[in-house]
Amino acid sequence: MNLEKFQESMYQLIVETSTNLPKDVRRAVKKAKQSESAGTRAAMSLGTITNNIQMADENISPICQDTGLPTFKIKTPVGVNQIKIKEAIYNAIAQATKDSKLRPNSVDSLTGKNSGDNLGGGTPVIKFDQWENDYIDVRLILKGGGCENKNIQYSLPSELDGLGRAGRDLDGIRKCILHSVYQAQGQGCSAGFIGVGIGGDRSSGYDLAKEQLFRSVEDVNPNEDLRKLEDYIMDNANKLGIGTMGFGGETTLLGCKIGVMNRIPASFFVSVAYNCWAFRRLGMKVNPETGEIQEWLYQDGEKIEFANEAESEVAAASEQESKVITLKAPITEEQIRELKVGDVVRIDGRMYTGRDAIHKYLTDHDAPVDLNGQVIYHCGPVMAKDEEGNWTVKAAGPTTSIREEPYQGDIMKKFGIRAVIGKGGMGPKTLAALQEHGGVYLNAIGGAAQYYADCIKKVDGVDLTEFGIPEAMWHLNVEGFTAVVTMDSHGNSLHADVDKSSLEKLAQFKEPVFK
Ligand code: SF4
Repeated sequence: MNLEKFQESMYQLIVETSTNLPKDVRRAVKKAKQSESAGTRAAMSLGTITNNIQMADENISPICQDTGLPTFKIKTPVGVNQIKIKEAIYNAIAQATKDSKLRPNSVDSLTGKNSGDNLGGGTPVIKFDQWENDYIDVRLILKGGGCENKNIQYSLPSELDGLGRAGRDLDGIRKCILHSVYQAQGQGCSAGFIGVGIGGDRSSGYDLAKEQLFRSVEDVNPNEDLRKLEDYIMDNANKLGIGTMGFGGETTLLGCKIGVMNRIPASFFVSVAYNCWAFRRLGMKVNPETGEIQEWLYQDGEKIEFANEAESEVAAASEQESKVITLKAPITEEQIRELKVGDVVRIDGRMYTGRDAIHKYLTDHDAPVDLNGQVIYHCGPVMAKDEEGNWTVKAAGPTTSIREEPYQGDIMKKFGIRAVIGKGGMGPKTLAALQEHGGVYLNAIGGAAQYYADCIKKVDGVDLTEFGIPEAMWHLNVEGFTAVVTMDSHGNSLHADVDKSSLEKLAQFKEPVFK
């Protein structure tokens, strides 16, 4: 095989997967957007998402800053050298990381050290099969951590919140799948897609669930029982009212694909793999002699181009559901106390990024900058350095905030921080601290990495680079950075409210449907 050409094909696959959402996924997002009424927070969020999809496409930059765990599924004709294929993929991954198409995302589990090139023990994941066809089939998924953390596995029989007993039958499986959507709330960057694996053991069940994410969003399950179940889930999961980002709304789920395999009599697992709206999976057929691309997969039909409607959606939301308030640090306690859950905030001026390493560090060290009245952004950006040594931001969406729950409240009080921005909301400890200290939690639109990168007009500096690029404290100068108040200083949390109301709605699905 021409390995140089094959490596080039793999590089193209990686860049396209990271930057250009496939056509079937675009159609699903468009349908969701059409189902939301203008002026709602859900419509505003989807406007930001579609704007972001378009920007990633045009800039050839990552749709989301979280590269996730690159996972390749490859089928080769008998006789193809799989060791050489692996080498070519490793080279292509390292090159794409160097070109800022992927964020360095492979971290030593014990020391926390980032390998810097997305290579290391277990990364990327490459799984091979052999087949009788005369071409190589390569598929890639970039599944981020926010949604990966919302995967769930049930062992039947089981007692489920809101739904009661789930038995070892199709109806028990139905309850597990509905519950999986409820438990994810908006934290996996809903609206999402789920792959479900029925049977197997704990590991093969999850593999089967993830395998379903490689199906086209629009295919029809050949198993009649599973086809009915997929349709049922799509019709009913959206009645839970979780909505985009968990802000409430009509669309919570964009796709549901279910597979089945045998199990041993003692075990009955239902495994669910949750994928965010930034459903980055593509594939290609490759010629095993020349290494050239023969055909792209998942790209049938017209490509939907999205118009930039983010600004008009914010304006519509401000007329109907939300007040729009501009903030600039240093922010006073009085300004914060005026904010209420549901308000839309636009930030101008300085903010600082801070993720897991920074939060842990600030607990027992002084801050490298004065954080009094400042804004902390839970974000691990994709950065690039130009020839003069200046940093530019390539992708900068929010990361999952709940990981900082043990530290956040204490750090806000210790340094006088007034606002934190992230996604998915935080827990009771932070909510109590916001109330006591006068702070606010702002939910940015998860995955909108291009949209937010565009709001960052300048990188003013960086501290604590020893933690690696995503974990360093970046000093960002922003303009019109928009997010929604989802936890305020009066003890209110939109996340807690949506969780409660969706649990009540889940209870309507308690009675058996599939006998
Ligand atoms: S959209 Fe959200 S869950 Fe998906 S990769 Fe990005 S941050 Fe993670």
